[in-house]
Amino acid sequence: MENVKEKFDVVVVGSGNAGLCAALSARAAGASVLLVEKAPQEWRGGNSFFTGGILRFAFRGLDDIKSLIPDLSEEELHSIEVEPYTEDQFYNDMLRITEYLTDADLALTLIRESFPTMQWLRDQGVRWTLAFGRQAFRVREKFRFWGGLVVEAVGAGAGLVGVLFERAVKDGVEIRYGSKATRLLMASDGSIAGIEIRGAQGFYEVDTSAIVLASGGFEANAEWRCRYLGKDWELAKVRGTPYNTGDGIKMALDIGAQPFGHWSSCHAVAWDLNAPPHGDRKVGELFQKHSYPLGIVVNIKGERFLDEGADFRNYTYAEYGRRILTQPQRVAFQIFDSKVVGLLREEYRIREVTRAEASTIEELAKKLEINVEGLVRTIREFNAGVQPGEFNPAILDGKRTKGVSPPKTNWALPIDAPPFVGFAVTTGITFTFGGLRITPRGEVLDMESRLIPGLYGAGELVGGLFYYNYPGASGLMAGAVFGRLSGAEAARYATLLPKGDPA
Ligand SMILES: Cc1cc2nc3c(=O)[nH]c(=O)nc-3n(C[C@H](O)[C@H](O)[C@H](O)COP(=O)(O)OP(=O)(O)OC[C@H]3O[C@@H](n4cnc5c(N)ncnc54)[C@H](O)[C@@H]3O)c2cc1C
Repeated sequence: MENVKEKFDVVVVGSGNAGLCAALSARAAGASVLLVEKAPQEWRGGNSFFTGGILRFAFRGLDDIKSLIPDLSEEELHSIEVEPYTEDQFYNDMLRITEYLTDADLALTLIRESFPTMQWLRDQGVRWTLAFGRQAFRVREKFRFWGGLVVEAVGAGAGLVGVLFERAVKDGVEIRYGSKATRLLMASDGSIAGIEIRGAQGFYEVDTSAIVLASGGFEANAEWRCRYLGKDWELAKVRGTPYNTGDGIKMALDIGAQPFGHWSSCHAVAWDLNAPPHGDRKVGELFQKHSYPLGIVVNIKGERFLDEGADFRNYTYAEYGRRILTQPQRVAFQIFDSKVVGLLREEYRIREVTRAEASTIEELAKKLEINVEGLVRTIREFNAGVQPGEFNPAILDGKRTKGVSPPKTNWALPIDAPPFVGFAVTTGITFTFGGLRITPRGEVLDMESRLIPGLYGAGELVGGLFYYNYPGASGLMAGAVFGRLSGAEAARYATLLPKGDPA
């Protein structure tokens, strides 16, 4: 009997935020949709599951926020101060943070579609809440939200993808777990004709004229990390899923897609020294240690090597994680005194934390195995360099050091109030910046910058948005924006093709 191949209008590869948005939007546009996910069901949701569920988007003021969170109480409304975050501000952040290298067309699409996509996600059933405790500080009885980050998904990343999976099932998206996309099949005219998948029973092919690749970056591929990011990167810990090994990027490159973006760079953060080699779904993102602007960061010699107060945390953390890898033994220590301990983020209070406390700096250094003389000298010189001024963690307060190298440009307080606490961290890679070149509609381009008809890309595997650094919470937003756009575009392309034509 002839082996009849299955046929779907659109096949989406990867069940993270980008893939789910693509699948939902393709389905809403009338396409039959197959979503294949390499991981088993208990690992579904990719890196998106691990996130704090915060999204960066442009908005005009409190009314926009209220439209996303209609159940905000009067009491909550009176207890907050929210500065607008305009499209211009978002664009300036993208330019500044990426050293003016971000692709303007992609960045502008991300920015202009960000608020409509937040509303679209709300309409898919995602519930939003104010991001208290993450990007807000209490200033004179009011919580002040700063840096454009105001809203997170209820239940964080797990809540976000949980809702999208529920909706996908309800809308009739067929989801297959333990199903790895292994090869893109092409028609002789260069368009997409199908996809090869490896499932529990082995390899099989599915006919389709449109594929959305949303299978993440290559951060969990130690060999590619070393190949593209460089020396020692195979030794970094992976913050999220172990399944993002660059498969979608490779499959597309194999058929002539164009590599784009900053292949030798990535997003990485300070991550607990004793965290497992890849993400733990119970602990999630809480191995991160993001409160360094409140203290100092030293290496094992006890020496500072970065400006902890250069900018708001969400503009420096992605770059500073990378710097730890260049320090001796790839380790760093965040040191705080009792004046600021109460301000540390929740991730400092988890059970799985590498922490020491002591009543003197010498004792703290011994407990953390930092060079004692080095740390004592560093803190003595640092304290002597702290300038007067009002400490205010909600603004760039300009309270800085003088005569200390590297300087601390904001939030510089002397470390002089015992007990002292220290946290040991290493580099945890989040995602890679290099990937495929797409148009603002999500269409993948080939080496000659022509369309590969029927091939789309979204999420982490897209190159060209982030260079050197990344404005916090743009990853989920980019995945949602380009997932939604590429899903709709793939559906339009697939369903408008004359029937019977392979592509
Ligand atoms: C700990 C942590 C915290 C973060 N916090 C935030 C945050 O608060 N805000 C924010 O904006 N960003 C955050 N990020 C970044 C964010 O996770 C990513 O930008 C975003 O989730 C990427 O979505 P994606 O859909 O492209 O990839 P993913 O969510 O990683 O999904 C990719 C999926 O593809 C699957 N896959 C891979 N290869 C194949 C294959 N061959 N066949 C089939 N399936 C395949 C994988 O198994 C995975 O499920 C965080 C990341 C981490 C790790």
